[in-house]
Amino acid sequence: MNDLIIKSYSPETFRKEAHQLADLLADELERTQEPVIERTINWETPEDQLAYWQNDFKSPLITDPTDLFRSVISRSNNLHSRGYMGHQAPPPLPVTALTAAMIAFLNNGMAVYEMGMAGNAMEKIVTSNIAAKFGFTEEASGIITSGGTLGNMTALLAARASVFNSAADTDQSQLAIMVSGESHYSIERAVRIMGLDTENIIKVPVNDRFQIRTDLLEAYYQEAAAQGKKVFCIIGCACSTSVGAYDDLDAIASFAASHNLWFHVDGAHGAPAIYSDTYRHLLKGIERSDSVVMDFHKMMLAPGLSTALIFRLGKEGSRTFSQKADYLWEDQHTDEWYNSGKQTFECTKPMSVLHTYTIMRTYGDQLYSQNVDTLYGLAEEFSVMINQHENFELACEPQSNIVCFRLKCGKESDLINRMVSQEMLEEGRFYIVSTVIKEEFYLRVTLMNPLTEISDLEELLTAISAIATRHMVAGQ
Ligand SMILES: *Cc1c(COP(=O)(O)O)cnc(C)c1O
Repeated sequence: MNDLIIKSYSPETFRKEAHQLADLLADELERTQEPVIERTINWETPEDQLAYWQNDFKSPLITDPTDLFRSVISRSNNLHSRGYMGHQAPPPLPVTALTAAMIAFLNNGMAVYEMGMAGNAMEKIVTSNIAAKFGFTEEASGIITSGGTLGNMTALLAARASVFNSAADTDQSQLAIMVSGESHYSIERAVRIMGLDTENIIKVPVNDRFQIRTDLLEAYYQEAAAQGKKVFCIIGCACSTSVGAYDDLDAIASFAASHNLWFHVDGAHGAPAIYSDTYRHLLKGIERSDSVVMDFHKMMLAPGLSTALIFRLGKEGSRTFSQKADYLWEDQHTDEWYNSGKQTFECTKPMSVLHTYTIMRTYGDQLYSQNVDTLYGLAEEFSVMINQHENFELACEPQSNIVCFRLKCGKESDLINRMVSQEMLEEGRFYIVSTVIKEEFYLRVTLMNPLTEISDLEELLTAISAIATRHMVAGQ
């Protein structure tokens, strides 16, 4: 009767399929490291993609998932390819495919201690280690959460809880935050979820390097106060998403201190610069912040989602989700690091810290410093290449591994660069993305693969030029 169940848990089948998958992924790794970039993405329209899978889904049941896995690979964006330089997701370290299997197999959901004994201890160790890197004291503590979006929201909730801790009846309708006009959309989303008016997100303009204008902070604060707004938090970008600009955290810290504001650093992408002797200076002042978000699944080579949220004063963070749940914990109010669900938005949460713990235990901080140095360095070299090229221009000098640039085509720039963007996608040798800066369209590259080489970037500019030339000739 339960024959299917018995078959589906067969250790022998699992052993065989796992070996096959390891071979499949290792072959893929080998292929994507080839110098000649053949294909990063095998682009298909959403309709064609859907039709393929609808057809697959109707087909007879399969006995071995290997062919299915092979189809998924050929229909996915291959982040390990040297031509992958699009969004801020890394080619995950191969060892994290193994930790991912461990996480799924053990399925320890973390929220209460017995459901994640190893994981809860690892979280404490990893977050304490990172807190010390940022220059925080023993009073700091952190949590791991599923993504920077959730991390930012948790930090903002902690900020509000901290400021309005004792005054439950305080009118919260005029609460406001200050942030640069370049901040990630997750900030605005979080603030809206918290019930704040969008008008109470005070967006401070940026300078020509897209950093928050710290000379304007006081004026914007005073203007808000005059309107009856109660600013409780200011956010620094480290770095911003669109062009990768680092705000002056030290200046923001001083401003925050002068008005007793919570200072949160959105370091989802760029906080790992802390590991680099060359780029650490970009984060000067981070040690004075109240909270920092840092994604492991961007510059720290882990697969999504896994994010550290560090509080300079751990006790501030632990108040965020004070609430009773008798079936999970008898006493909500004691600060028990090992029942991590008390401090996170999530209830069931994967033991995603295993990726980072394993990376740290295997390679140490050195791997992170090499990754940051390689990718930021590659972006610098790419920007020099663009500056020297007569057909291309930068949106601004890069401060990280994000480079925004375009073909110079005068009034046609928007049109031509849009066409280039679409054709590059369909061609699929490289994967790059785009952004709009000051209402103009730019190509956007995030150098995420540390195996990408200068020659690949030269090849990229050649490929873009070739598309543009075809269009210009066709347009004449
Ligand atoms: C990516 C990013 C986020 C969102 O993080 P997720 O992990 O994708 O939820 C927030 N802020 C910045 C600056 C980012 O780069």
